[in-house]
Amino acid sequence: MDTRISFLGLGIMGLPMAGHLLAAGYPLTVYNRTVSKTDSLVKQGAKLAATVAEAASDADVVITMVADTPDVEQLLLGEHGVISTIQSGATVIDMSTISPAASQVIYGKLGAKQVGFLDAPVSGGDVGAINATLTIMVGGDAVTFQRALPIFDCLGKTATHIGASGAGQICKACNQILVASNLMGVCEALGLAAANDIELKPLVKALGGGAAQSWQLDNLGPAILNNQLDPGFMIELLAKDLRIVEEALDAAGTVAESTSKAKQLFDRLMDEGEGRLGTQALVKAYEQLGKVRIRG
Ligand code: NAP
Repeated sequence: MDTRISFLGLGIMGLPMAGHLLAAGYPLTVYNRTVSKTDSLVKQGAKLAATVAEAASDADVVITMVADTPDVEQLLLGEHGVISTIQSGATVIDMSTISPAASQVIYGKLGAKQVGFLDAPVSGGDVGAINATLTIMVGGDAVTFQRALPIFDCLGKTATHIGASGAGQICKACNQILVASNLMGVCEALGLAAANDIELKPLVKALGGGAAQSWQLDNLGPAILNNQLDPGFMIELLAKDLRIVEEALDAAGTVAESTSKAKQLFDRLMDEGEGRLGTQALVKAYEQLGKVRIRG
């Protein structure tokens, strides 16, 4: 492997993802705002970059996995960002979930420097990042996508080229519509069963064997029943994603009723200071609304 990769953003998702690339044999440079999170990878042989500009300067591929649109814009386009030092011919892959419109702007600005750009958000949660089973939804030039495939193969089980720049982020917005409405359904189903004094563990097992089976039910159903509300995927990140969905719906002049309702519920949990809990803490809103105890 002689493709030099710089990985920026070693949070819940980025740390295991970068670890897979190192384990696959790529020469890896890492940067994280909170430097201590780089320790484990540096011990395993990754090179530490003190700044974003340093990380980008000799990279063939730069991967970003940070929180929100302004964070990606700052890392890539800021005065001392990736764009200030990256070599022409290199590729930048943003795997964060951000605005499709902002991704297109980044594509244009990097393209003007002959730097390829893919928007490549992921789904599959922290479990998918740890097990390298993410699904990766990619927007950008087909030829850049083909070149990046060996990297995606280290991180996930499917990487799909959805279309032109921004299309990966639109696909991720569609994914979050399904995630949010499905998680609402899981909480509503558990609420009805709990209100009927039905034992919930066999109920979840039975539902998981039929047409109602889903990732949310299989992974977050048991977490809810065990009152495990740690993230996984934080409410504040899903609330951010639902804001992106809302903006994309507005831009396209269309609607998504259940997603609007989900956004209200998650915004309410944010107002109550629950933003750093896992998304399964949506159950708290349903317990309050339905006056029923669902968690064990
Ligand atoms: P996280 O654990 O909160 O990590 C966020 C990372 O971004 C940290 O490394 C953080 O640095 C860095 N960061 C944030 N703002 C920054 C800034 N302005 N400048 C530099 N670095 C900055 O989040 P995560 O769960 O890994 O999520 C990362 C992305 O993946 C998000 O876009 C999220 O929506 C998406 N995603 C998450 C999941 C999931 O299940 N967690 C699933 C699919 C997609 P510090 O360490 O210094 O805070």
